[in-house]
Amino acid sequence: RAKQQHRGSSQYFSPAMGTDARERFKLLKGLRAGFEDNRLFVVYQPQVDMESGRALGAEALLRWRTEEGKFVPPDQFIPLAEQSGLIVSIGEFVLRTACHQLKRLEEQGWTDFRMCVNISLAQFRHAGFIETLNAALRDTEVNPNNLELEITESMAMEDADLVMGLLASIKRTGATVAIDDFGTGFSSLSQLRQLEVDRLKIDRAFVREAQVSSAGSTIAQMVINLGRSLGLRVIAEGIETEEQRQQLLALGCLEGQGYLFARPVPADQLERWLRKEPL
Ligand code: C2E
Ligand code: MG
Ligand code: MG
Ligand code: MG
Repeated sequence: RAKQQHRGSSQYFSPAMGTDARERFKLLKGLRAGFEDNRLFVVYQPQVDMESGRALGAEALLRWRTEEGKFVPPDQFIPLAEQSGLIVSIGEFVLRTACHQLKRLEEQGWTDFRMCVNISLAQFRHAGFIETLNAALRDTEVNPNNLELEITESMAMEDADLVMGLLASIKRTGATVAIDDFGTGFSSLSQLRQLEVDRLKIDRAFVREAQVSSAGSTIAQMVINLGRSLGLRVIAEGIETEEQRQQLLALGCLEGQGYLFARPVPADQLERWLRKEPL
């Protein structure tokens, strides 16, 4: 018992920073190797018209399967990739893979399918970003209007000048932009008005809260009204239950993404899901 306690406390009092840094270094080394060995891949989560269930698009989400067959969640490895700069090449891989898949869907008749790709601030800060975007669009020959880039609200606030300049360049390519995790980044109405974006994604925290508290549904309602008054489309993420679907619809949000409709799946399963075939 004493031994257990001792072990516990020594763990607790060990220099957390050092352990942390070592852990992160190991993880980053694994991520680099994983990227080189093609153990990173992209999955797609459908977005639907919540009234009819019709598919409108999909969000591309990165996955990392380690050599041991373990999945490391993106919330753990994306920040590392951002800090190390590795996100620039990984992000280009995601963008190209998603565009390639979009082209396949366009060829299958999904001519106005929206493919959404998450972009980090570190990618935006990299001088070659617009050229990377143009090259991906050119090489895959997709309809640029079908590509949507997702940036987070906090990222738009952190470096507003940079982001605003890039939004104008993105617009010229034909691609659209969504603000992800909206409601968590404290942007003001005036800041939002200056951002040339096309869509707001209500963070799933507010979707979850909308069901249990009136404060939560007030935030969801505010985001929906804000989007409407600025002429932006609004989508709710993290729709898990039928009650949430109905509640968001009642609040005036027509588009949704979440486990209720579909989980993120590999490309072949996305295509089967779109053809309404069993996965
Ligand atoms: P995000 O962009 O907000 O993506 C939505 C997250 O919510 C995804 O988590 C998705 O799997 C999850 N999700 C979707 N529906 C539901 C639901 O009904 N319930 C719950 N509980 N979760 C749901 P995931 O795939 O783990 O990604 C986490 C975050 O990692 C993303 O949040 C995004 O910020 C980042 N990320 C993922 N892929 C990329 C990428 O290629 N590039 C960059 N820069 N970031 C990425
Ligand atoms: Mg996203
Ligand atoms: Mg999100
Ligand atoms: Mg989120």
